[in-house]
Amino acid sequence: MPALGLGTWQNDDPDQCAASVRNALEMGYRHIDTAQAYGNEAAVGEGIASASVDREDIFLATKVWIDQLGHDDVLESTEKSLDRLGVDYVDLLYVHWPADAYDAEQTLSAFEELREDGRINNIGVSNFEPSHLESAQEAIDAPIFANQVEMHPLLQQRELREYCEDADVELVAYSPLARGDVFDVDVLTDIADAHDASAAQVSLAWLRQKDVTAIPKATGADHIRDNFESLDITLSDAEMARIDDLDRTDRKVHPDFAPDSW
Ligand code: NAP
Repeated sequence: MPALGLGTWQNDDPDQCAASVRNALEMGYRHIDTAQAYGNEAAVGEGIASASVDREDIFLATKVWIDQLGHDDVLESTEKSLDRLGVDYVDLLYVHWPADAYDAEQTLSAFEELREDGRINNIGVSNFEPSHLESAQEAIDAPIFANQVEMHPLLQQRELREYCEDADVELVAYSPLARGDVFDVDVLTDIADAHDASAAQVSLAWLRQKDVTAIPKATGADHIRDNFESLDITLSDAEMARIDDLDRTDRKVHPDFAPDSW
């Protein structure tokens, strides 16, 4: 899975969304993240189709919404996602949240069937705590490949990182720029100044150096490029430690169906 992807939540205007995806792919991104709930799978598909990059070189991920997590609904809604995206398969299909119609056995057995049929290459989950991950992995034989959760320097997910490392589950960081809050953190802007970089780039480099994949959402070419250039930045051990020491728990995404423990 490419370590940097393009997020697309709230990239709602179809022409703009298609242009963002095309720009990102032509700039070198090879990982695109969408979801049924974002209402933009068709626009993402259009961006992919219009870019001069082969489908098989792109890591494409989407997510099944919480009211579609019954066994048959997973199968049917995923076919619709593939149709809208204009592709034969996705590289990663996530359970968007462990909520509403989610049932580990029912939901994930359908994900396993989709994997056996070649409609998805990998099974993912999102917003899962260690307890959810444990029961998910017990429910199926196929591996849970990735868990997509909110993670950034202001929400470092230490416990979950440790769990995922032991369980061999990749972590994907959503809202990796804390939805813009990283720009107001002195430690990050100081380090950014030292690298002649942006606080966005520093946050993304910090995640990459923790072996976490990040999927910043960016709309215009400037932000898309700024984030891509984070791949050229390497933070020193001392800089990593300064960020590690930020002691904050600023969760930006907290809907009422989030796990009780949040
Ligand atoms: P984010 O990536 O932390 O922040 C996006 C915001 O930062 C946008 O306002 C964007 O503006 C701005 N931005 C991006 N790059 C910038 C740069 N280099 N300089 C200045 N501003 C910059 O927030 P997010 O959209 O919440 O998270 C990213 C992706 O994660 C989502 O798009 C979605 O794909 C995924 N996600 C998943 C879940 C889940 O439940 N699984 C939840 C939330 C998000 P512009 O748009 O104007 O460029």
